[in-house]
Amino acid sequence: MEEQLRIEHNAVQNAGSGIAITDPDGIISYANPAMCVLWGRETEDGVRSTSIQDLFCEPAAVTDVIGRAASSRNWNGELKACRQDGNSFYVFTSATSCVDEDDTVTHIVFSFVDTTRRRLDEEALRLYQDHLEDLIHERTTELERINNDLKREIAERLRIETDLRDAIQKLREHDQAKNMFVSNVSHELRTPLTALIHAIESLMRGVAGAVPDPVVSYLSMMLEDCWRLDRTVCDILDLSRIEAGRLELNTANIPIRRMVERTVESLRMEAEGVPLTLEMIAGVHNGFVDCDAAKMERVVINIVNNAIKFTPPGGTVRVGIEQQGRSGVEGVCCRITDSGIGIPAEYINRVTERFFRVGEQVGGTGLGLAIAKEIIERHQGQLDITSPPPGADKGTQVTIWLPTTTPQRVMIVAYDRGVPHVLEPAFLKQGYLVSSYPNAQHALQVLHDGHHHIVIVDSTIPDMDGSEIVMHIKADPILRRLPVFLLAEDKPAPARSSILSSFGIPVFLKVDGMPDLIDAVEDAFLPQRIGIQELHAP
Ligand code: ADP
Repeated sequence: MEEQLRIEHNAVQNAGSGIAITDPDGIISYANPAMCVLWGRETEDGVRSTSIQDLFCEPAAVTDVIGRAASSRNWNGELKACRQDGNSFYVFTSATSCVDEDDTVTHIVFSFVDTTRRRLDEEALRLYQDHLEDLIHERTTELERINNDLKREIAERLRIETDLRDAIQKLREHDQAKNMFVSNVSHELRTPLTALIHAIESLMRGVAGAVPDPVVSYLSMMLEDCWRLDRTVCDILDLSRIEAGRLELNTANIPIRRMVERTVESLRMEAEGVPLTLEMIAGVHNGFVDCDAAKMERVVINIVNNAIKFTPPGGTVRVGIEQQGRSGVEGVCCRITDSGIGIPAEYINRVTERFFRVGEQVGGTGLGLAIAKEIIERHQGQLDITSPPPGADKGTQVTIWLPTTTPQRVMIVAYDRGVPHVLEPAFLKQGYLVSSYPNAQHALQVLHDGHHHIVIVDSTIPDMDGSEIVMHIKADPILRRLPVFLLAEDKPAPARSSILSSFGIPVFLKVDGMPDLIDAVEDAFLPQRIGIQELHAP
């Protein structure tokens, strides 16, 4: 029994929880070392014989616990204890009463576990939860605010979008009205302008009698200005067509060198007026280009005109043509190089914008290069502008590059071997393909293959008269669009001549008309415009 008691005493002594035994009034008779550690006492002597109530912050609560333990044997709960140094801590307390045979409480056993750490953790957790709740509340309020702002913004955007849509619709309507107006005005301007040009040309041709030289020079000036005005009206018309996406190309296979040469010649008087040197440097060989000749001619005129306009007196404007392939595509380059004022580097990329002009300058609409770029690109070509030109210290170089196509094929129908003998090398030299036929029936048959673009007919062919062949061609619905030229030994009789001219068939004399014939063939697909020199010629 003693041994048993000793074992139990040892167990209580070494228990991790604080254990105290008191009498029914709470006077401590035993306290184990763990209890002393909890209350910061060195030995159990410090607590023995003291009242257990004095070890707690609220002694009355402990008296109450003793009462409860006595009546119901056991009480569990948390109490706030205080150490000698005044620090408080929490203990989970279990109080159990022990009774004798008469059921009288003899003493009470207390056990204590320090719960301060747990309480602190719980408190921290509670504080953290409170903080989280605050945070969530704060964030929710912020999100609600953002949400409301967003709703307001979306409503505002929708309103702006509707306004914008209305504005775009109005702009479109204005644009359509503007394009319609520009188109109508341009047509209104062009009709009297064309009549004026025809009237001046007729006067210069002498339909109203011989024109004295001073009058001719006035008429020439009037004609130049009419053409300039006509070009501007055409530019404006093209711009409105480009904007409306309705720019149509009326393409034909044209000899590019000849077209450039003609446009350069048409500006010679302008160049002389400055005065400056206007040079055309191009080999005889033609490149053939599928293009809208009227539009491309205006492009070249605008660019050469710019070169003349922006080059001071004494300067030079050179127009050169050379074959040049790009990215594996055969093509031809037309370079217009001037020694003029040049374009500042920062504006090079802007001069092809609509209405853009460098600084204050006289004359011009700012449309020429913008339209030129559009038209060239519509022909799968490229427009490059360099200032100064390569190797020069001033001036501008504008390069038009266009892809080339197969050359035109000329058919010569002539029994007289002398005709192809002269014409074949002349056309081959200019880049044309030529085939000659001595027999009219055979030639007409071959024409139906569609490989020929131009026909030259000699008037003396054994199996059919030249004029007859020409009439056959003009009467044929498939062939009638082919340009046809007639070669004759002498001027045709007036009756025949008027029939031929009513079909638009020019007649050239075999002896001295060959050079003119070649020029006329070259001009066959170019816009018909009579040069001033030509008009003035006797
Ligand atoms: P416009 O000549 O009618 O003003 P363009 O579109 O043809 O319009 O040219 C736009 C601008 O580019 C011109 O106003 C001019 O400032 C500049 N420019 C064009 N060509 C030349 C050039 N050869 N030399 C100097 N400046 C040029």
